[in-house]
Amino acid sequence: MLQTTRRDGLSIISAPGLQAECGVTVAFTDRVGGAGAPPFESLNLSFNVGDDHTVVLENRLEVAGALGFPLARWVLGRQVHGVGVSSVGSLEAARGAFDQASAMPGTDALVTAEEGLLVGVLVADCLPVLMVAPAGRCVAAVHAGWRGVARGIAPRALLALAGRAGCRPADVRVFVGPHIRSCCMQVDDSLAVEFARRFGEGCLVRGEAGVRLDLERACLSALYGLGVDEDNVESAGECTVCGEAYFSHRRDGGTTGRQAGFVGIVR
Ligand SMILES: [Zn+2]
Repeated sequence: MLQTTRRDGLSIISAPGLQAECGVTVAFTDRVGGAGAPPFESLNLSFNVGDDHTVVLENRLEVAGALGFPLARWVLGRQVHGVGVSSVGSLEAARGAFDQASAMPGTDALVTAEEGLLVGVLVADCLPVLMVAPAGRCVAAVHAGWRGVARGIAPRALLALAGRAGCRPADVRVFVGPHIRSCCMQVDDSLAVEFARRFGEGCLVRGEAGVRLDLERACLSALYGLGVDEDNVESAGECTVCGEAYFSHRRDGGTTGRQAGFVGIVR
């Protein structure tokens, strides 16, 4: 079960039960406890938003220490709101960890079966979705904003993970981190129509002020369609726009930092 823990002065949402059960670490960070100055205060983990490179590196080292995965064993992608899934192993270790240029190109989801490797996605309103195959044989980190959800990044990542692990989608565990929730995601009519057509009317919330989108519900409905079991899904239930502890692209007017979702096999 997801719970918030304090580690080395950082607040991390993790699943200690999962770690005990199958040796997998899942973790979602927030914006508190880092070294950054406004508008990136303070635990910004992205090199790609205009923050000081040295400060971001310092923040990443802090998180690496708290999670027990050295930065040299992280792998991150160049996220483009697309459907690119990269399968990575020890050859890709450190790609995107110390700089942006070496990150896996055109990658919104990372899959690995390699022990001791941490894959992550950077977000500030988009859904960070982590997936874990039975017995921790394989894991995936997915960056799913509304474009990625509409284009099907989460199902693509699920199928890649299940294929690699040789398991059924029904046995995959799914963890959804803090993101913009339906309380705050006003959308225009054309986007609402598009999402209702793809994912059903249930992903829309209609109110006097207009239509709001339940992005998590849309994303999960696509996974349920492939056989994922609702009982294997857990959400942090936190809204990045409402929650001051998070970076929010929408609330902060576009210039802000990124928190992260990470998953790695420890054993
Ligand atoms: Zn909200």
